[in-house]
Amino acid sequence: MNETMLALRKLRPESGFVPQEVPIPQIGPNDVLIRVEKAGVCGTDQHIYTWDAWAQHRIKPPLTIGHEFMGTVAKVGAAVRSLREGDRVSAEGHIADGTCFLCRTGEAHICERVEIIGVDRDGSFAEYIAMPEYNVWKLDPSIPDEFAAIFDPLGNAVHTVMAAGVSTKSVAITGVGSIGLMAIPVARAAGASSVFAIDINPAKLELAARLGADETFLANDPNLVDAIKRRTNGDGVDVLLEMSGSGSAIDAGLRMVRNGGRAALLGIPSNDVQINLAERIIFKGLTVLGINGRKMFETWYQTQALVKSGRVDLRPIITHVLPFKEFDRAFDLMKRGDAAKIVLDLKGDLAK
Ligand SMILES: [Zn+2]
Ligand SMILES: [Zn+2]
Repeated sequence: MNETMLALRKLRPESGFVPQEVPIPQIGPNDVLIRVEKAGVCGTDQHIYTWDAWAQHRIKPPLTIGHEFMGTVAKVGAAVRSLREGDRVSAEGHIADGTCFLCRTGEAHICERVEIIGVDRDGSFAEYIAMPEYNVWKLDPSIPDEFAAIFDPLGNAVHTVMAAGVSTKSVAITGVGSIGLMAIPVARAAGASSVFAIDINPAKLELAARLGADETFLANDPNLVDAIKRRTNGDGVDVLLEMSGSGSAIDAGLRMVRNGGRAALLGIPSNDVQINLAERIIFKGLTVLGINGRKMFETWYQTQALVKSGRVDLRPIITHVLPFKEFDRAFDLMKRGDAAKIVLDLKGDLAK
């Protein structure tokens, strides 16, 4: 094995990433070294690439970026029992401490001492990544590489849909970026009676329709809330899945949920959001859920089952598979809104 590998790094507090030869990570007795084959590009990576206020506050360069990936086990630590060299795997990128109250009561995804790969420690835009055995997910052989590479964001969509509970329910999704788009087939597979998709980008709405949304709406339509109410007996939808993080979308979303309905919030606002709590939540008797990450590992079992069933087809969402070396192009496509999900290919000479 070579001593060094290529990694995509944030070296200084400024925009862009730099490809750099770095040592292959060492592994401890409970760790697994994974040869990364495909890696998903995420909005989080885009924040780090452009070096926005969130990134400046959170990221401590130098750091290898990337958290969505799949690959093959290259080496296992002496104490590893559940995995062996050659296994096809993905991994949960939130590394929890495993010992706190939350971790010990089935809530490791919101562990206060969680470390996220590609954010708090070296990530997956590299030829190899070291992961604790506990975080590694062995893939069912029926799952294509491209889908496996984006189990992390798909898991976000699955977690949101399952937490909200959509069976037989009418569902509105505000914001159909890649996770909002994934939530459409997931909600359908989970038994939603109708799915309405809302976004500012008409191209994303077209994709939403292809993925099974019953109807799509432009977010800036002044009659949006009335239109949704007309389609739901005048009551409003049973469930809101908020995937945009936009203050105005959150407000519109809460207005379009029926009294007694449920709202699951996944989109992350970049600033404080002002909401009329009395009108939007309290008088309506809404149940509001904050969603973070994926339940370890309930969400992973659900995600794999849904993909394996063939009822969650991600092909329309993966708009680009690019060679690793073309990472700058990936971030340019993301910036221009011309891509839903981009997957980087690192197989063979970095898949040039
Ligand atoms: Zn991501
Ligand atoms: Zn913990």
